[in-house]
Order: sequence, then C-alpha cells, then structure tokens
Amino acid sequence: MERYDCKKVVGRGTYGSAVVATRKADGLRCVIKTIGLRSLSRGEAKLVRQEARLLATLRHPHIVSHLESFGRRNSHGGREVCIVMEYCSGGDLEQWVSRRRQQRKKPSEGTALRIFAQACMALEHVHAHRVVHRDVKTSNLFITRDAEGPPVVKLGDFGISRVLGATGDLAATAVGTPCYMAPELLDERPYDYKADVWSAGCVLFELLNLKRAFEARSMPALVRLVMRGRGAGFPCLDATFTSELRRLFAKLLSPKPRDRPDIVEILRAPIVVTACDRVR
Ligand code: ADP
Ligand code: MG
Repeated sequence: MERYDCKKVVGRGTYGSAVVATRKADGLRCVIKTIGLRSLSRGEAKLVRQEARLLATLRHPHIVSHLESFGRRNSHGGREVCIVMEYCSGGDLEQWVSRRRQQRKKPSEGTALRIFAQACMALEHVHAHRVVHRDVKTSNLFITRDAEGPPVVKLGDFGISRVLGATGDLAATAVGTPCYMAPELLDERPYDYKADVWSAGCVLFELLNLKRAFEARSMPALVRLVMRGRGAGFPCLDATFTSELRRLFAKLLSPKPRDRPDIVEILRAPIVVTACDRVR
C-alpha cells in the first residue's frame, strides 16, 4: 500500500470501497478496491480472493485490467484484501445512461450496439474461461474514454462471478441486482452462461431506451415481472427500432435459457459484427 498515493473514493460498495490512487513509481493512475474480510463469512471471504484471482487471469481489451492484489491488515488489525486495477476515468455506464436521460439524448442504434458489442466481446472471453460473471449491469461496465463517439467500455466487478464446474461450490451468498437477473437465477435453479446473456439483453434495452428493462414498485413485483415471461409489462423494443435489432433483443430475453443464443452466436449476428468492426 505504501507504493500508492490514495486520492479520492470513487465508489462505496457492498463490502468495501474503491479509491483512485497513483502508483508512486511511475505515476500510473489506478483504482484500489479494498474489501474488509472481518464481517464476511468464510464462503464470502473465499469469493473475494476468487475475484482477485479471476481478474488476474482474464486479460482482454474490454475487461478492466488487473495490476496486482494483496492482503493486508488495516489500522484496527482487521484483515483486508486489496485489488489494484486499471482506472476507468469515464465512470460507469449507469452514470452515462443517467446523464443521457437528463439531456434527453437517446443514443442511436449504432452507438448502443457498439457499446453492447464491447460487452459481448468481454463476455466471450469470460465464458471461454468457464466463468459466469453473474452481475452484468450498467454499473459494472466501466468507461475508459468518454471522448467523441461511443465510449470505450470494460467489464469489471467480478465480485460474485463463479467458475462453472469448480469443486466446493459456494452457496449463493451475494446476488446481483434483480433488475438484471435471469429468471433461473431468481428462481435458484441451475444456471450457466446464458444468465449473462439475459443480463446483457437488459443492458442493451437500457442503452436504447435510457430506462431499465425491468422496473417495478417492489421487489416481489419485480420478481413476478421477470418470472412471468412474455406478456404485459415485459420489455420489448418498439417499432422505431430496426427489425433485426428487435429480433435479437427478443432472443436475448427468452425465458428459457436454451432459447437464448450463446455469446458466440450473438457475436455472429450481422448487426453485432458491424458494431464490432466499428469498435476496432
Ligand atoms: P461493488 O459494486 O461491489 O461495490 P465495483 O467494482 O462495481 O464494486 O465498484 C463500485 C463503484 O466504484 C463502481 O460503480 C464505480 O463507480 C467505481 N469503480 C470501481 N472500479 C473502478 C475503476 N476501475 N475505475 C473507475 N471507477 C471504478
Ligand atoms: Mg458493482
């Protein structure tokens, strides 16, 4: 920790805080996420260490890059895990969406698709490593450059990700925001990579409409809406969008995981291929 100059807090999460810092050696800006282990169960503490390990193995242009992680004791003697990662100066996509909402500036289909395509490229890499992110949402997609044109986004916060098929499966202690959670996750049924596909669909909807795909007055109402499947109140893209995009979106939010395309199929859809080409 002595090797870093901590600047300001950028996020306060469920387990700890995220602080912007500079590495003294070379002045590199980074974010240090500190998670106190004291209040965590053994299973949760294991998840925290897993997040650090996972981030270290997942190297990809659209995944927040990991610099290092280490354990330490805080001033009260409590154990903490520190994860040092690349700083994404543009904040997160949730903030981007809310800025756009205030300005009443809906992005074009092309812009939304270019952001979505980046999230898909990240997920392709994640899934290829047998990892399910489980918490794909706008606040976990970080922006590195918010210059002209669509932002460059990177997937982060692997706090509740799971390696499929890992032994000693942990009980699902921490769960994602229900707004983005696939029906099988809400229902505690077995899930796989397709749960992330659902969440990616929710992100796509939010980018296009500047409002969440699923919203309700209460948690039970929200769960009912997600579980009910197609019908009144279930999100669909209106006729102002191209039919290709509407068809893709409808498939992403298929109630049955097996009816959803996998990430490789999504990346083969012509509108997504075009969007990927524009990103590169
Ligand atoms: P959690 O959601 O578990 O609290 P996150 O990793 O999502 O943890 O971090 C919380 C918030 O901190 C984010 O929504 C974001 O605003 C900020 N943040 C986290 N990591 C970064 C980063 N690498 N660059 C910039 N901001 C970050
Ligand atoms: Mg988060």
